[in-house]
Amino acid sequence: MHSKAKTELAEILRGTLIERDHPDYEDARKLYNGMIDKRPLMIARCADVADVIAAVNFGRENELLIAIRGGGHNGPGLGSCDDGLVIDLSMMKGVRVDPANRTVQVSPGCTQGDVDHATHPFGLAVPAGIVSTTGIAGLTLGGGTGYLTRKYGLTIDSLMEADVVLADGSFVTANETEKSDLLWGLRGGGGNFGVVTSFLFRAHPVSMVYAGPIFWDQKHARALMQRYRDFLPSAPEELGSFLGLKTVLSTDPFPREHWGKRACALVSCYNGSAELGEKAMAPILRDLPPPMFNWMGVMPFPSLQGMFDPFLPKGLQWYWKGDYVKALPDEAIEVHIAQAANSPSELSLMHLYPIDGAVHRVGKDEMAWSARDATWSMVIAGIDPNPEKAGALQRWGKAYWQAVHPFNQGGGYVNFMMDDEGEARVKAYGDNFDRLVALKQKFDPLNLFRVNQNIRPSA
Ligand SMILES: Cc1cc2nc3c(=O)[nH]c(=O)nc-3n(C[C@H](O)[C@H](O)[C@H](O)COP(=O)(O)OP(=O)(O)OC[C@H]3O[C@@H](n4cnc5c(N)ncnc54)[C@H](O)[C@@H]3O)c2cc1C
Repeated sequence: MHSKAKTELAEILRGTLIERDHPDYEDARKLYNGMIDKRPLMIARCADVADVIAAVNFGRENELLIAIRGGGHNGPGLGSCDDGLVIDLSMMKGVRVDPANRTVQVSPGCTQGDVDHATHPFGLAVPAGIVSTTGIAGLTLGGGTGYLTRKYGLTIDSLMEADVVLADGSFVTANETEKSDLLWGLRGGGGNFGVVTSFLFRAHPVSMVYAGPIFWDQKHARALMQRYRDFLPSAPEELGSFLGLKTVLSTDPFPREHWGKRACALVSCYNGSAELGEKAMAPILRDLPPPMFNWMGVMPFPSLQGMFDPFLPKGLQWYWKGDYVKALPDEAIEVHIAQAANSPSELSLMHLYPIDGAVHRVGKDEMAWSARDATWSMVIAGIDPNPEKAGALQRWGKAYWQAVHPFNQGGGYVNFMMDDEGEARVKAYGDNFDRLVALKQKFDPLNLFRVNQNIRPSA
C-alpha cells in the first residue's frame, strides 16, 4: 500500500489512525477476550460518519481486510483482524433519549451501560444483554438476549432504524419503509451488510426492579433445573430469569463459607414491585431446599446490568459454545450436571437464557434472526484469567457442548460462537439463509465485510 494513501487517510480522519509504530497501538489492539491476539495493520479510530466513510473507501481501494469494532466483546475477536484495517467505532458515543416518543438514538461505540445510564432517568430501557461493558452494536446485530427479553423481545425486536455505511462507501438509512430489506438483514445478520453508524431503538418502561441472583449447592441442580423448566412457561413475562451452573467465586462479596463450591443459580429480574416480584418467584422457590444465598432485592435497573462487571474485567480468557434449546428433558439435565462438574475454573459457566414470550410473537421470517420457536439460548463459557488454562477451557467447552448438543435444537446464536464452528453453523438461519445470501449479494457483493460470522454473497 502506498504511504501517500495512508497519509491521506490520516489527514481526512477527525479521529486517529493508529499504526503499528504508534505509542497507543498495543493498547488499541487489545480485545475483551484475552485469548485473542490479533495484530491489525492499522486501526482507524473514527470520530464520526465521515471518518467511517473515509475508512471504508480506503480499505476497499487498498484491498485491505476490514474488521468493524464496536464494544470489542466478540468471543472470537471478530472486531479485529490480522494485517488489515480495523474500523474502530469506540469513540463514537452518544445516546439521545426522546421520552415523548419513547425512542433512543444510539451511536455505535456505546456499551450497554452507556445506554442504560442514559435511559434510566426517563424510566425507560432498551432490552439488551446482562453485562454492561458489552458493545450495543455487535450485540444488537446478532440478536440480543437479556432480562427484558420475555416481555419486550430481543434487542432487534426494538430496533426501528439504522444508519449504515455500505461497502461502496454510500450512506443509507434503513427502516420499515426505506431499505426495509436491509433492516431485515441487520436484525440478526451481524456485521455482514455494512457499518452501522447509528441505531434507533424503541424503549420500554423499566425503572426500579426486583432482581438479583440466588445460588444453591450443586447437589440441588436436578431439582432446580426441573422446577425452572416446568415453571418458566407459566411465569409472568415481567420476570426474566436465567439459569446457571456455576461456582461460587472465592472473592468478596460472596459468603466465605461457600467460596469455591459448585453451584446452580437463578439470576432473575422482575420489572415491577418487590411484592409482585416475590409473588412471581414463589412457585419456583416453593419446596426447594434453602439456597446458599438469595440476593434478590429492589435496585435500579442499571445496577443489575452492572452487577457482574467487577468479576469479568477485560483480558480474561474466554472460550464460547452455544446452541438453541427447545426442551430440557431429564436426560439432558443429567448430562448438564455431569459436564458442569468438570468445570476447569471458578468463572466457567453454563447459562440458559429464556427466549420465549415476546420473542415467539414475531414470525420466523420477519427478521433474519429465525430461532423464534426455541425456548432458551444456551451458552457454555470457559473463563479464567490464566492464559495457560486456555487449552483446558477449550477442551471443557467442546466436550460439554458435544455431550448436550444431541438434546438441543439445530443452530446457534452467532454471538455465542467462536470462529471454529464452520459454515454449517452460520447456516442456522434456516429458511432465512438464502434470503441473507441474496441480501449480501445486493449490498456487499465483494464480501468486503467478511470478518464476522460470514454470509457469503451468491456470485
Ligand atoms: C461478558 C459478555 C457478556 C455477554 N452477554 C450477552 C448477553 O447477555 N446477551 C447477548 O445477546 N449477548 C451477550 N454477549 C455476546 C455479545 O453479544 C457479542 O460478544 C457481541 O459480538 C458483542 O458486541 P461488540 O460490539 O462488543 O463486539 P465487537 O467485537 O466490537 O464486534 C463484534 C462483531 O460485530 C459486528 N459489528 C460491531 N459493531 C458494528 C457496527 N457498528 N456495524 C456493523 N457491524 C458491527 C462486527 O461484525 C464485529 O465482527 C456477551 C459477551 C460478553 C463478552
